[in-house]
Amino acid sequence: MANISYIDGLYCNIVDAKISINDRGYHFGDAVYEVILYNNGKFYDYDGHITRLYNSLKLININFHLSKQQLKIIIKNLFKLNRVNFGSIYIQVSRGVADRNHSYFGLNSKPILTMIVSKKKNNISDHIKGVKAITIFDNRWSRPDIKTTQLLPNVLAKTHANEKNAYEGIFIDYEGYVTEGSSSNIWIINNDNEILTREIDGKILSGITRKTIAQFAKKNKFKMLEKKFTKDEMLDSKEVFLTSASSFVTPIIEIDNIKIGNGMIGKTSIELRNLYFKNFN
Ligand code: PMP
Repeated sequence: MANISYIDGLYCNIVDAKISINDRGYHFGDAVYEVILYNNGKFYDYDGHITRLYNSLKLININFHLSKQQLKIIIKNLFKLNRVNFGSIYIQVSRGVADRNHSYFGLNSKPILTMIVSKKKNNISDHIKGVKAITIFDNRWSRPDIKTTQLLPNVLAKTHANEKNAYEGIFIDYEGYVTEGSSSNIWIINNDNEILTREIDGKILSGITRKTIAQFAKKNKFKMLEKKFTKDEMLDSKEVFLTSASSFVTPIIEIDNIKIGNGMIGKTSIELRNLYFKNFN
């Protein structure tokens, strides 16, 4: 088990790690985060995740005091201290500690950086299983493009999916279009063999895995379009898969109890998954 965490300048055992009750991340979800996968000395899409972290900080006006180089040193130290070969790092930056008050106007709080390393079983070469999903109305706020820790609708959607024996809850907007998963981006391969994923239109998170897969698809001469699609188009497609830092490319074989294609894992999903691993190994 990985048990050394990092809190505001200190490396400490996770059981001794303490956050102030007045941390604005705790009170208001006034914090941003990232998750990066680590495999034997290599991070997957490190620069993409770190760039997005600094971008999220900028979008909510958190004045972060550490440079990217300083952050990298701490992250590497944490993996060494924890002796983890395969796992992930959770990075969170909150606006800091202050008396509870909605507004941060004039507040000079110091941002609080926390990091947790999780050890995982390396499942990259395991036989991949397809997963089930359900659809759910997208009732999130109008800035899901910012990666904040305010995740209650996502938490409820994922829990609801798990209660229904499904792996992911797929959000559908009020016009019937797919936005994204509760913790992933969603892709389809339609009956014209086009690979589609919703464009970056402010209604989804700009997934780092999504970006990498889109580049691979284009480079490998797949017909790939960044274009939104409806729930019905998704249910009628040949293949559906999701992407995220911790699930890579995962095929979805059933949605709302309806089989996708022939109900088996599709070959394009597998091809893209393999391309992803090949790139980082
Ligand atoms: N959308 C949401 C809502 C997410 O939480 C995630 C996972 N962080 C993603 C998409 C996928 O993003 P990434 O590929 O950067 O992990």
